Amino acid sequence: MIDPWGSSIIDYEKLTEQFGIKAFKDVLEDIPDASKLMTRGIIFGQRDYKRIADSLKNNKEFATMTGMMPSGRMHIGHKMVVDQLKWYQKKGSDIYLSIADMEAYAARGISKEESRELALTEYIENYIALGLDVTKDNFHLYLQSENEEVKNLAYLIGKKVTFSQMRSIYGFDNSTNVAHIYTPLLQVADILHPQLEKYGGPKPVIVPVGPDQDPHIRLTRDLAAKFNDEYGFIEPSATFHRFMTGLTGEKMSSSKPKTAIYLTDSIKDATKKVKSAKTGGRDSLKEQKELGGQPDQCSIYELLVYHLVEDDEKLENVRQKCLSGEILCGNCKQCAVELLTDMFEDLDSKREEAHEIAKDLL
Ligand code: SF4
Repeated sequence: MIDPWGSSIIDYEKLTEQFGIKAFKDVLEDIPDASKLMTRGIIFGQRDYKRIADSLKNNKEFATMTGMMPSGRMHIGHKMVVDQLKWYQKKGSDIYLSIADMEAYAARGISKEESRELALTEYIENYIALGLDVTKDNFHLYLQSENEEVKNLAYLIGKKVTFSQMRSIYGFDNSTNVAHIYTPLLQVADILHPQLEKYGGPKPVIVPVGPDQDPHIRLTRDLAAKFNDEYGFIEPSATFHRFMTGLTGEKMSSSKPKTAIYLTDSIKDATKKVKSAKTGGRDSLKEQKELGGQPDQCSIYELLVYHLVEDDEKLENVRQKCLSGEILCGNCKQCAVELLTDMFEDLDSKREEAHEIAKDLL
């Protein structure tokens, strides 16, 4: 069982074996002009991606679906989803973005108004500043509680799921509130509704998620197949990306400020966090010069790979110099600070306009 409400999953290989997630590298060569997240193995797994690769290659219609349950502040790890949405948007995909206010209420007691406010001011504002074009006709943003199609579909598909199934997938027990038990069906409906007639009928849909969301994907695919006769649903495809390690070495989390760089951190605070981050450096300078560093266990290197260095050659250069002990963590952190400063200055310069756009979106 994977718990979408709290586990931290690290063993990606075991995960792919256990749950039947396929390796992303198997489809990589079929993707025209694959993104950095794909080529760098950050997106490591997939279900049924061939369908999406085919749509990409042959300019066929498909949709990209994601959702967010607004809680806490947006951190740099969340940027990965935005990067993926931007990439699919550039490729001509419709983008569907659900604000899971009903789930936030059922699972965390957050009111609809709080969800709306947090989604717009903290998340969507940053999404826009990061370059997602929310003004396009093919961008669909909605609150779950205000989307009648999603709510109706959730109810209808609920007919073919039993409580016993829900319990074995999500680990619900006798103390779980009933609204919470219902929320996975809303997520299933979120993912399936772009295929309803109103939205142009059946089409491939890609859902980029972290591996903790796989239970939703499996349930959705199962229900899509069960309702294929009625709606013609195509089983949605999914990709799975690695989580960023937090700056302290544990999982990056909104609720643990020391693990994460928030997108609205001041440059001063972000710098401080980078400077005190856990690296793959050795205990002493002498040892590091002799043995080299360990980039694969380094949160700074991860920052460079995920977000800060576009150029593959430059990245490989850092890696080799780290491995050979030619660069030390102090220099490396300084370099990360400079790149991060550029990114934050750019975001700051766009945030005011982003705020104006975001505030009227829902
Ligand atoms: Fe990480 Fe850079 Fe230190 Fe290598 S030199 S361990 S990449 S901070």
